[in-house]
Amino acid sequence: MSYRTPEELHKAAAALLAGIEEKRAQGPIRNKDRIAIPQQEMPSQDPLERRGNMQEVTFGYSEEQALVEAERCLQCKNAPCIAGCPVTIDIPRFIKAIAERDFEGSISVIKEASLLPAICGRVCPQENQCQENCTVGKSLKDPFKSVSVGRLERYVADLDRATGGRSAPHVKPATGKRVAVIGSGPASITAAADLRKEGHAVTVFEAFHRPGGVMLYGIPEFRLPKQIVDEEIETLRQMGVEIRTNFLVGRTRKLADLLNEDGFDAVFIGTGAGLPRFMHIPGENLIGVFAANEYLTRSNLMRAYDSDHADTPIIQPRRVAVLGGGNVAMDAARTAIRLGAEEVNVVYRRTRKEMPARAEEVDHAEEEGVHFHFLESPVRILGDENDRVTGIECLSYQLGEPDESGRRRPVPIPGSEHPLAVDTVIVSIGNDSNPLLMKTTPELEVTKWGNIITDDDGRTSMPGVFAGGDIVLGSATVILAMGQGRKAAAAINTMLAGGAGGPGTEPTEQ
Ligand code: FAD
Ligand code: SF4
Repeated sequence: MSYRTPEELHKAAAALLAGIEEKRAQGPIRNKDRIAIPQQEMPSQDPLERRGNMQEVTFGYSEEQALVEAERCLQCKNAPCIAGCPVTIDIPRFIKAIAERDFEGSISVIKEASLLPAICGRVCPQENQCQENCTVGKSLKDPFKSVSVGRLERYVADLDRATGGRSAPHVKPATGKRVAVIGSGPASITAAADLRKEGHAVTVFEAFHRPGGVMLYGIPEFRLPKQIVDEEIETLRQMGVEIRTNFLVGRTRKLADLLNEDGFDAVFIGTGAGLPRFMHIPGENLIGVFAANEYLTRSNLMRAYDSDHADTPIIQPRRVAVLGGGNVAMDAARTAIRLGAEEVNVVYRRTRKEMPARAEEVDHAEEEGVHFHFLESPVRILGDENDRVTGIECLSYQLGEPDESGRRRPVPIPGSEHPLAVDTVIVSIGNDSNPLLMKTTPELEVTKWGNIITDDDGRTSMPGVFAGGDIVLGSATVILAMGQGRKAAAAINTMLAGGAGGPGTEPTEQ
C-alpha cells in the first residue's frame, strides 16, 4: 500500500462524512451502505522518516475519520464483537456514542470495563479479539476490514486525555486493610486500582527503578509512548497507592515476610514473564548476541540509544539478525533500525501466515525496510577470534503436517545450511517466568514451566496470596493481564470483606 499523508486521509474522510450526512438527510442509512463505507486508514509517520526516530508511528484518527469509521458499525443486536473482548467492553454502545458525537459518553462506556483504554487502543491485538468476530469484516470476507474498534477506542481515550478527563477514581473510606501488589505491569496496575477504590491501603513493589512493567521497558516508545504509561501510574499515586521501586520481592523481602511480619492482609503477584528463552545453539555467548528483552529494556528504559549519555550504550549495529516471529521480534527489529542498523533480517522458521506477530506490526516492519527470511532457522552463531559475532548459519525448512498448535510443523531440509553475515543477533523466541519468587516461596504451587497455578479468581495455593497476568498465563497480552488483575482484585476485596480465601482458610484445590 502506498503511503498517504495524514492530510490526505483527513480530507478524504471529510468528503465521505459530507456524503454520509447527505444520505442521512434522505432517511436512515441501510446496512448495505454502511458496509460500503471504506475503512479508515490509520494516519502514520512516513516510513522513511520514522526509521530515524523513536516517536510514535501512528498519529490516531482525526474527528472526521472517527465519525466515518463509527458509521461503519451495524449496531448488531447480538454484538459478536463483545464476545471477543477479554474485558467485555460494550463496543456497539461506545461506537454509537461516537457516531452521535457524544465523545464523553463514549469514553465512559469504555471505562466501565477497561482501566487503560489509551494503552489498549494502541497495543491490543484486536484482529484476534473483537474485530475477528465483527459482522462487517465477515460480510466483506476480510477480518482486516472489520470496524476498527481499537482505533476508535484510542480516539476517544486520547481525546479524554487531551481534555483532562483522566480524574482519579473515587476511593472509599479506609478499611484498615493492607494489600501488597508485586510488580507494576497491567495486571498489577488494574489490581492496585480496584483494591484501592475499595479503601484498602495498597503498596506496589517493583523491581525496576520505574513502574509500568513491559508496557514501559518492553513495548517501544514508537508503539506506546511512555508518557501514557506514566500517566496511568500517576493516577494510581493520586488515588493514594504507594509505589516502591528498586524492590525485588524474593530478595529485598520474601513474600512470606510481607504477610507474616510486614502486616499485609493479602498479596497480589503480577510479576510477568521476564526470563528470556535461548535457542541453546553454539555461539549464543558471543559478543553481539542479545536477548530481545535485554535489547529492548536497554533501549526503552536505559535510553541506550543515546550513546553520548547512556551508562550502558548498545554497540551500534550494522547487520542484524532477529530470531523469532512474534511481536517482540518485530519490536526488536524495528528498534535496531532506529538504532542505525544498515540491514535488519528477521529469521523465522515458518511462513508469514504462521507468524504470531500482529499483521499490522509485520507490515510496519516491512515498510521500514526489515527483511524477512521465512522457512529458515539458525543452527549456530559464528564468531571471530575476538569472540565477536560475524554471522549465523541457517538451515532451510519446509512446512509439514500441523502440530498440536494447529500450525504446520517446520521440517528441516537436510544439507540446506547457508550463512548470513551479521554482527548482531537478537534472540526473540519467548519468555518464561523468573524463578526467584517461586524459589524463595516454596509454598506457591507452580506448573512445570514455572507459572503460578491459580483458580479462576486468581487464588494461589497460599492463603491470602493471589496472582494474575503473564506469571499465570505465560507470555500473553496487556488486556488479558488486566482482566486477570481485575478478577483477582474482586476476589481479594471479597476476602477482605470477610469472604473466602484469606490467611487461615484452606488452600485452593488445584
Ligand atoms: P509485566 O508487564 O511483565 O510486569 C511485571 C512487572 O513485575 C515488571 O515490571 C517486573 O520488573 C516486575 N517484577 C518481576 N519480578 C518481581 C519481583 N520479584 N519483585 C518486584 N517486581 C517484580 N501485549 C499486547 O497486548 N500487545 C502488544 O503489542 C504487546 N507487545 C509486546 C512487546 C514486547 C516487547 C513484550 C515483551 C511483550 C508484549 N506484549 C504485548 C505482552 C504484554 O506486554 C504482557 O502480556 C503484559 O505486559 C503482562 O502484564 P503483567 O502485568 O502480567 O506483567
Ligand atoms: Fe459493530 Fe462489528 Fe460489533 Fe457489529 S460486530 S456491533 S458491526 S463492531
